[in-house]
Amino acid sequence: MSYVGRFAPTPSGPLHFGSLVAALASYLDARANNGRWLVRIEDLDPPRTATGSIDAIFSCLDAFGLHWDGTPIFQSQRQTAYQEALEQLRSKGLIYPCSCSRAQFSANPAYICQCLTHPPHQNDVAMRVTLPSQCITVDDAIIGSQTQNLAHDVGDFVVQRKDSLYAYQLAVVVDDAEQNISHIIRGSDLYEQTPRQVWLQRCLNYQQPSYGHLPIITNSQGQKLSKQNLAEPLNLTQAPALLSEALERLGHASPCGLRLAPVEEQLTWAVAHWDINTVPKYMQDPIAFV
Ligand code: GLU
Repeated sequence: MSYVGRFAPTPSGPLHFGSLVAALASYLDARANNGRWLVRIEDLDPPRTATGSIDAIFSCLDAFGLHWDGTPIFQSQRQTAYQEALEQLRSKGLIYPCSCSRAQFSANPAYICQCLTHPPHQNDVAMRVTLPSQCITVDDAIIGSQTQNLAHDVGDFVVQRKDSLYAYQLAVVVDDAEQNISHIIRGSDLYEQTPRQVWLQRCLNYQQPSYGHLPIITNSQGQKLSKQNLAEPLNLTQAPALLSEALERLGHASPCGLRLAPVEEQLTWAVAHWDINTVPKYMQDPIAFV
């Protein structure tokens, strides 16, 4: 199988250092394997798309020398594909309408939803998958394998929200299949969600990509860097220094003479020296970027 990797940012704000690490690692893994590297804009939830953030993401990737192949795809333009996948799940009897709120599910792990046996009558329903009690094991190139029994550990999850928007879990597997993604390198906040995605891939007869989840980057208070906790946007005027910092955090510190070299030079060195086994593991080695 030829290597195709991707970076799939949600344009809810500017990229931060954690995003740079994810983009860089997936780029290096693709290029070191002579692969293609694609960009997908995950603007699935239009109200969450921050004005100007999509252009800012493209400019930012360019400034760091992370040039992608082909034309980026946008989730906001892929409704038909998600609808088709939902119909496939429906025709296999794998989804059901549910009127329960997220709070009902999350507040009480023992909550029993009756919607499968007593379908709700109202229109504003979510669509949930109905899960078998079956273990799913997923290998991970960085963290190591995990096994989940989705029915017990997660519960029937939503693939279409009450407001009709398709859920991330469905969109991500449909798009990864459409783009023939063979390798996914991304932040470890998505590690525990991966068995859900693998289960959907099996239901939809898609090829399963390989996965690798990266160490969490925390701020000086130990919080994960994220757009939600207002992580600082990347300062493009400091691209060489930030790139060198990101390489170091990925266990690939470049030689001293290259630290402030132009980003293209640093990337050439990093592609030649990339070894995914050198990337530190999640939990054992949380990383602080101050
Ligand atoms: N869109 C997600 C994010 O920005 C990443 C999804 C993925 O890589 O599967 O965090």
